[in-house]
Amino acid sequence: MVQTKVAAQACDVSDVQGSAFERFHARETNLGTLKILRALPLRQKRLVGPWCFLDRFGPLSFSEAKPMDVAPHPHIGLQTVSWLLQGEIVHNDSLDNEALLRPGGVNVMTSGAGIAHAEETPAKNSGLLNGVQLWVALPDADRHGQASFQHINEVPVLEQAGGRISVFAGSVPGCSSSAKHFSPILGADIAVLGTASMEFQLDPSFEHAALLMTGDAEIDGQSIDSIGLWYLGTSRSSIELTSRNGCRVLLIGGLPFPEKILMWWNFVARTPEEIAEARSDWQSRQRFGEVKAYRGSRLDAPPLQRFAPPNPAS
Ligand code: MN
Repeated sequence: MVQTKVAAQACDVSDVQGSAFERFHARETNLGTLKILRALPLRQKRLVGPWCFLDRFGPLSFSEAKPMDVAPHPHIGLQTVSWLLQGEIVHNDSLDNEALLRPGGVNVMTSGAGIAHAEETPAKNSGLLNGVQLWVALPDADRHGQASFQHINEVPVLEQAGGRISVFAGSVPGCSSSAKHFSPILGADIAVLGTASMEFQLDPSFEHAALLMTGDAEIDGQSIDSIGLWYLGTSRSSIELTSRNGCRVLLIGGLPFPEKILMWWNFVARTPEEIAEARSDWQSRQRFGEVKAYRGSRLDAPPLQRFAPPNPAS
């Protein structure tokens, strides 16, 4: 997941409740052989709350080669959050955690000062892959802490007339995820079943964004597409989600992140010196440990000069 220049375009669509409603065009790229849509960071939208990275992969079906095979690589300063609609991913890390992720569960890895992990399609699989991976920037006070990993087999689900809301990060009224996060956050998968409308309560102090993952959807009467990140701004106490034939919408949010972050490759930091040190530690096999369960070579960091100066992420 190499950060390079990203193309983005924004257009003001409407002004609802005095809040923003902007579309940012997501970027198609590759993660190994897997085609992905990168919806964060974009040049004009780096963060939504503490969410600083959003990759959408699938839906795809396969019979032979495993579509996801991300060899061991390091992280600093962030949490990774993996959420599936279909298929399986197996996670292994340098703390010797192994976890098989399936739809309805979530994997949350906290890098703290440093961790390495690998993510693969397991040998025994359904032949399907469809999901998202997100990163959460850690606040300065927590980013040098212990690395850890949390697997939740089934996240809480709020059943509502017309659909259901799976809360994989943070909480909505009546439903809280047990995943540990370090700043106020929301990550939810809203399913509208068939032709229906759902009213969804929001924390107006949060900023939010939506990504259509399947089907058709309107938010407050505005039709949304699946290759745009739909930024909803702050100051919204609710949205109305309407679908004609059913949909799944990813909703992310959080208190606007008050710190400036610097992103390069798999690192979230504050200064170029920290990035260079983390890169050097990875290349010299210090700090991050080894992902013993992975069969194969680990990823090499790209040359630093190719990306200098790193793009400030906000
Ligand atoms: Mn990773």
